[in-house]
This record gives sequence, structure tokens and C-alpha cells, in this order.
Amino acid sequence: MSGRSAGLPVVALVGRPNVGKSTLFNRVVGDARAAIVEDRARTTRDRLYGDAEWNGRRFVVVDTGGLEAAPGDAIEEQVQLQARLAIGEADVIVFLVDAETGFTPADQDAAELLRRTTKPVLVAANKADNQRREQDAAEFFALGWEEQYAISANHGRGVADLLDAIVWALPPESQAEIARKEREAEAEAWAKDMAAGDLEPFVVGDEEAEEADEAASDEAESARWDAMMAAESSEPPAIAFVGRPNVGKSSLLNALLGEERTIVSSVPGTTRDAIDTTIPWGRSEVVLIDTAGIKRRGKVANGPAAERYSTLRALKAISRADVAVLVLDANDGLTAQDAHVAGYVIEEGRGLVIAVNKWDIVEGKTHKSFDEFVTTLRRDLPFVDYAPVISVSAKTGQRVTRVLELAVDVWGERRRRIGTGELNRLVREAVERNPPAIVHGKRTKVRYATQVGVAPPTFVFFATEPASLHFSYRRYLENRLREAYGFDGTPIRLVFREQVREKRPPKGRGARARR
Ligand code: GDP
Ligand code: GDP
Repeated sequence: MSGRSAGLPVVALVGRPNVGKSTLFNRVVGDARAAIVEDRARTTRDRLYGDAEWNGRRFVVVDTGGLEAAPGDAIEEQVQLQARLAIGEADVIVFLVDAETGFTPADQDAAELLRRTTKPVLVAANKADNQRREQDAAEFFALGWEEQYAISANHGRGVADLLDAIVWALPPESQAEIARKEREAEAEAWAKDMAAGDLEPFVVGDEEAEEADEAASDEAESARWDAMMAAESSEPPAIAFVGRPNVGKSSLLNALLGEERTIVSSVPGTTRDAIDTTIPWGRSEVVLIDTAGIKRRGKVANGPAAERYSTLRALKAISRADVAVLVLDANDGLTAQDAHVAGYVIEEGRGLVIAVNKWDIVEGKTHKSFDEFVTTLRRDLPFVDYAPVISVSAKTGQRVTRVLELAVDVWGERRRRIGTGELNRLVREAVERNPPAIVHGKRTKVRYATQVGVAPPTFVFFATEPASLHFSYRRYLENRLREAYGFDGTPIRLVFREQVREKRPPKGRGARARR
């Protein structure tokens, strides 16, 4: 290990179909995400993983029910799979039961498995919509856990208490989590100052004054950025290799490292998620996070179950990586699990490179094969059209080094920053060329934009009536930023804030300092 701390903790929701897992998931993930990332686009249709935040702690919530790969499985079997998955990969397990229908054999089976883990298990008796049901829920004490919560995922009843208990049961906060929180707070404070009018709004037309203002504010801006960059750790780029079993993740890493790696086998039930290897890279280093490094024995080593494990393991690796290399098998193309993982990478604000492996054995290959593969991929993953795609062969070594070069490039793009003056010239031009549509007789005015963060690049736009800016207009602005600056492989975030004051009394030049 490179001294890097573990990724976000994982909270797994386990329970038979219809107990309300996805309702609870939506409530926990939907309510929790605050302020600065509010404008992230929904990337995947049905979300199985999401970030949550409660009492200042962030964690990943996983709806293990959604991971079902075999719809033909009996309910008992499905729940047992979920339970095994949660035992293996989660930090806290929420075992959902249904206070309306009461105790069922499927609950019993899952309970038997869950009793064997030493991980915290919280029983949540859902659909306890009223007091009577809450009393009925007491029957679940028979399952044997002391910690039990009567909740109503639909109405929110009891959910706060459950969240308190979840956060209480999480492993201690890592250094990386603390550092990230500080950075977010910094960006947030800056954005608030702006919204409060402590900074000059961007006024179309007054170019000379603007330029003077710009020059004077450069100093303050660089100071702010220096502080922000210093707060970012000076750790080398961390690149996670993720993908389904057998796509060739280990082979790719071996090819990169130029030697056979020892495969560490693990005792079932332990959670070593990945192996980190630091290698020299130019004048610096990169950390390769190998999620395939651990092969499990027995039942879960193959088939759909192994896929579920690889997906969950990928989540943890992604949350502590800067860039994820999603490895696909050229012969299989993109699967639903791959699309979920890609969506998660973007939601987490990480960079993404797609490596299409086993290119050596693509049958009937022509000079068009790669373009065709990419076209299909772009169609199936429209929300990551900016991620570089590369065909490789771990077996022959073709382009394997290029994968790493691309990943490091994306790492750089993810940390790119654009000066406020330059940014506003671009935004003004974009807005003049294509103004927002008129809604209810009013046209939104985009007044001013500034980058408030990197990794991923985050921009705050101040506008009158930002709420009536259509999603497609936000997309337009994002595309303009990408055309001008690239940001290849990295998500960028556009946050829209209300600019409350139309005009403000002139302020001394260079008074753009914070607070
Ligand atoms: P999942 O299959 O475990 O993900 O369950 P869903 O979240 O899809 O919920 C199954 C059904 O239970 C849906 O019709 C929900 O509206 C309903 N449901 C979920 N939570 C509650 C609740 O707190 N009270 C009641 N009465 N119904 C609920
Ligand atoms: P992982 O589970 O994703 O780590 O996959 P492995 O690296 O263990 O590879 C799975 C299988 O695919 C092994 O039999 C490899 O030899 C084979 N494989 C991996 N990469 C390539 C490749 O580029 N070309 C071919 N033909 N086979 C490959």
C-alpha cells in the first residue's frame, strides 16, 4: 500500500424483493447530497450505488437487490446472494424486513447468514407507517439483533434514527475523507461569498474596466488556487483498473509491470479490496490499483456472483482513485454492469478511460472495426462521450503503455483550472451566440462564472433565475467549455446559483478578496 487510505465506506441494503430497498435507497441518497454537487446530471437510469452524507460522514449506499443478475433465481436464493455479497464487501449491513407482511422464510435464510458476520448489522423493519405497525415490527426482535429500527421509507418516519445508527457503525474516518471534506467546504465558502455579492458581477460591455479588474484580481485568485492546490495532497496519480472478471485486468497490469505478479489469495469473508502497486512514471510515480488481485475460492469465483463481487470491489477502488480504467473484453462489448460502473465513476467525479482488451482475437477485424466498436459504445454510454477509448492487447502488449499515458493525461485534465477572466470571455461569447430561452416572458441572464474547484473541475455560474435554465442549456455550456479546454476523460460540474443583486455600488479595484 502507498499509505493511501481506504475509499468511502460501503453500506449495503439487503432484503427480499418489495421490502422497500430501493425506496430507502432513494430517500437516503436523494436527501443527503448537498449544495455544491447539486447539479450533477443523473447518469444511470436505475441507480444501484449512490453517495450519501449524514452527520458529516460520506458513504456509498448499495442496493444489493438491484445487483441481481439472474432474474430466474428463487427469492430465497436472491436474498442469500445479497447477504453473502454484503458480508464480503460492505462495512455496514442494513437488513430490511417488512412490518406489513411480517416474518418470512426468506428473511430467516438471510438472517442465518448475516448472524455469522462480525460486521455491524442493523435490522430495519420497513413500512412501519403508523404506531400500530411500529408495534408489529417488534416481532423482528426474534431475529436476534439488538439494534432494530422501525422505519417508513415512504414517509421518512424513523429514517433519521436509522441513519444516525449507520454513521455510528461506520469505520473511523480516513485521512482522505477528511481532506476531501475540507476542500469541499472551501469551494462552498467561496461560492457563498460570490452569491452574497462580495465579488464584482460580470457585466457585459464594460470591457476596459473588466480587464483592469481582472489584472488586479489575478493575485487574489492565484493565492486562492495555491491554497487549494496545497490542500490537495501531493500524492501521485492513483489509477484503478476495474471491470468484469476475466476481461484481462490482471493480464493488463502484468503487461504494464513487465513481470508476473503474485496473486494473493484471501480467506473468504475478509475485505482486502485491492492491491496497490506504485511504479515510477517519468519523473514521478503512479499508483496502480488492481481490483482483480484477489481471486476468491469456491462458489463465488465464477459466474454472475463473481461479477457482483467485482462490481462492489470496483466501487471502493474508484472512490479512492483519481482515474478509473474500465477494462472491457472486445468480444463481449459493454454489459449492464460495465455501464453501472462507468456511471459511478462519473458520479464520483473521477476520470475515466475505457480500454477495450483482447483486441488481438477480434474476429474478422478490418480497419473499421475499432470505429464501429466506439460508435456502439458511445451510443450505449452517451453520458461519457468525453472518455477516451483505446483498443489494447494485454497478451501481445499492443498499446498497453498508451493506456497508462491516457490515464495520466486524464489525471491532468481533471486538475485543470481556468482563469476567471478567460472563462468569462468564453461564457459571454457562448451566451451571446445562443442566449437562454425565454421562460414565462423572462430570459435568464448568465452574469458571471468562476471555477471553484478541481478534481473534478467545478464551475459556479451566477445567473438571474437559474432554476429556469433548461438542462439542455447547461449541457450547451458544458460542451462549450469542453470544446475550448478539453477536459478529456474527466467529468466537470456546473453549479448554477442565483445572482441576487442586479447592480451593486462600485467597489475598489482588486477588492475581490475572500470574505
Ligand atoms: P425493493 O424491491 O426492496 O427495492 O422494494 P421497493 O422500494 O421497490 O418497494 C416495494 C413497494 O413497497 C413499493 O410499492 C413501495 O412503494 C412500497 N413501500 C416502500 N416503502 C414503504 C413504506 O415505508 N410504507 C409502505 N406502506 N410502503 C412502502
Ligand atoms: P481478470 O479477471 O480481469 O484479471 O482477467 P485475467 O487477466 O485473469 O484474464 C482472463 C483471461 O483472458 C486469461 O486467460 C488471459 O490469458 C486472457 N487474456 C487477457 N488479456 C488478453 C488479451 O489481450 N488477449 C487474449 N487473447 N487473451 C487475453
